[in-house]
Amino acid sequence: EAAKAIADSSGPGRTSDGHAVALLANVGSGKDATAAASADAEGVGLFRTELLFLDRTREPGLDEQVAAYREVFAAMAGRRVVIRTLDAGADKPLPFLHQDGEPNPALGVRGLRIARQRPDVLTTQLAAIAQAAIQTDADVWVMAPMVSTVAEAAEFAAAVHAAGLPKAGVMIEVPAAALRAEKLLGVVDFLSIGTNDLSQYTFAADRQVGTLAELLDPWQPALLQLIAACGAAGKATGKSVGVCGEAASDPALAPVLAGLGITSLSMSARALPAVRASLAAHTLAECERLAAAVLDAEDPAQARKLVS
Ligand code: PEP
Ligand code: MG
Repeated sequence: EAAKAIADSSGPGRTSDGHAVALLANVGSGKDATAAASADAEGVGLFRTELLFLDRTREPGLDEQVAAYREVFAAMAGRRVVIRTLDAGADKPLPFLHQDGEPNPALGVRGLRIARQRPDVLTTQLAAIAQAAIQTDADVWVMAPMVSTVAEAAEFAAAVHAAGLPKAGVMIEVPAAALRAEKLLGVVDFLSIGTNDLSQYTFAADRQVGTLAELLDPWQPALLQLIAACGAAGKATGKSVGVCGEAASDPALAPVLAGLGITSLSMSARALPAVRASLAAHTLAECERLAAAVLDAEDPAQARKLVS
């Protein structure tokens, strides 16, 4: 029965009583975007642009960037594409932006922080995104990684708008940002929670260290509490708050996230059918009950048990 529901699964994300939760795909290339379109993704929730920059000793030029972004936008014609500006540093080191001798790269100049030192890299990337957006009819939203303060978010939104792009958002990857979610939504149009980094920084546990998996579990109540704060801010302001980290691809967690006020889930395309089926098996009121229950749980095991 459940397997059949998954096999039949297509169309937009909905609870059984019709509450919409957009089901989006994480992509790194035009090829990924084409696969996501075939899997009936409602759009792209995270376009990681690092792929184009990896293993380069020099920054890819404007035209090369326009071509790469256009491929993804074209594959998603008429749909939403949330494109993330360069997330260099820590687990994604880029030779041409190499930060020499940082003792602690995960806590160093990474993500949007690099734009303070190299504003030219962000300006070129935003210009390329704007050009590619004009050449296609995707609904292009732009977001920054590793944002910690409202001032950083406001500065980023101003740069996005100056490039002629209407929709600016930020990722929630740092606990400080989650705690200020409503203030952030005062200066940007949307939030997207990167649970991989948000777990890492909340639990002070390196995401690349497998032996710390228990701390990095997306069912950790402390992580879910930060997600709840973001969902509440989204409800209060009427703005979109998505999840685009690994947590978004867990079918059992999807109703919980919907109940916490999350409006979109972005994952690898192959995870979409099971998440779609899981959402469709619950009403919004059930999702909200599950959300309240997991926030009250003692630990991830109990949270899982309450939902199963
Ligand atoms: C995250 O941190 O959860 C995220 C989606 O971004 P990345 O995995 O690329 O750091
Ligand atoms: Mg991240």
